[in-house]
Amino acid sequence: MDLTNSDYAKLKKEIESEGLLNHTPLYYSIMVLVDLVVLISSFVVLIFLHEWYIVMLMALPISFICVQFGYLGHDAGHWAISRKKAVNNAIGYFCHSFILGGSFNYWKHKHNEHHANPNHEELDPDLRQDPFSFYEKKTGQKKGMGRLLTRYQSFLLPLAFFMISFLIRKDSLLYAWKHKKECVVDFLLMITHFFLFIGLTAYFIGIVKAFVLYIITCMLIGFYLGIAFTPNHVGMKTFTDADSTNYLTQQVLSSRNVKGGRFITILLGGLNYQIEHHLFPHVSRKNLPGMKKIVKEFCGKIDISYRDDTLSKAWKDIFIYLNEVGKHARRFPLLKVASNMVQ
Ligand SMILES: [Zn+2]
Repeated sequence: MDLTNSDYAKLKKEIESEGLLNHTPLYYSIMVLVDLVVLISSFVVLIFLHEWYIVMLMALPISFICVQFGYLGHDAGHWAISRKKAVNNAIGYFCHSFILGGSFNYWKHKHNEHHANPNHEELDPDLRQDPFSFYEKKTGQKKGMGRLLTRYQSFLLPLAFFMISFLIRKDSLLYAWKHKKECVVDFLLMITHFFLFIGLTAYFIGIVKAFVLYIITCMLIGFYLGIAFTPNHVGMKTFTDADSTNYLTQQVLSSRNVKGGRFITILLGGLNYQIEHHLFPHVSRKNLPGMKKIVKEFCGKIDISYRDDTLSKAWKDIFIYLNEVGKHARRFPLLKVASNMVQ
């Protein structure tokens, strides 16, 4: 079915008439407050109780709440929290640059590119996740070790999640170094992050425990982010310049929702409404469930596939998909792989 911009405008009008494009500052204020209380309480517990097993246990709530701050930073990057740019920026810097230790500007830059071209094989930075191949053509471009890893990517991907936090820090620093003027606040907050999360924690619980807690927390945050983010687009339709598509179709067909109610929404930070989020990125997380019915009905009317799976079904499909894509690397004999590796 041929869709035009007026179809998107019609959908937007319907959503607007339900008041779902309005900002919800109270909702976000409560969320920031709750997250802060949990994070500060976790560190206060560590000041008084810092046996090794307690330090390890506290890594769980700290990682969980840090990811919640990450979701808030994501929403701030879309200006979904407030109508005021300064408020969104302040929350974004606080959540990403200070709490997570990664550049908010780097995140915005990369994530906006992704939103403009979701699952576009050349233009979506989220599809450039070496050594993994999220579409067949990429597998064909792999050589040597990359090809070898791609063969087993469905098993390796969850293990790689543990590295995400470290990679975000590395890419953030590289981006901030290249864009020094734009990233002054990022630099200052990232330094403060290391000073507080390692330095100040070390003052109370000792340097070894503080350092181990930091590394474990980073690994858990990465794993959590990987489990949460991957279902959004992996295994969904990918696009190239050769596809004649439009904004609405590409956003819907490249995205997968995860169903499961309020618990899943807290766990995945509202990104479980990925289709609605991609169609209207600046919409408050609070309004996404209300939008779902309208968007789903609309997609039914214009005959566009609307993907809505449970988290386990989504992950089962992702595993099968990555295995299928990885199989293309398996067509080559091991000997050829080995010879590529030494070239
Ligand atoms: Zn987004």
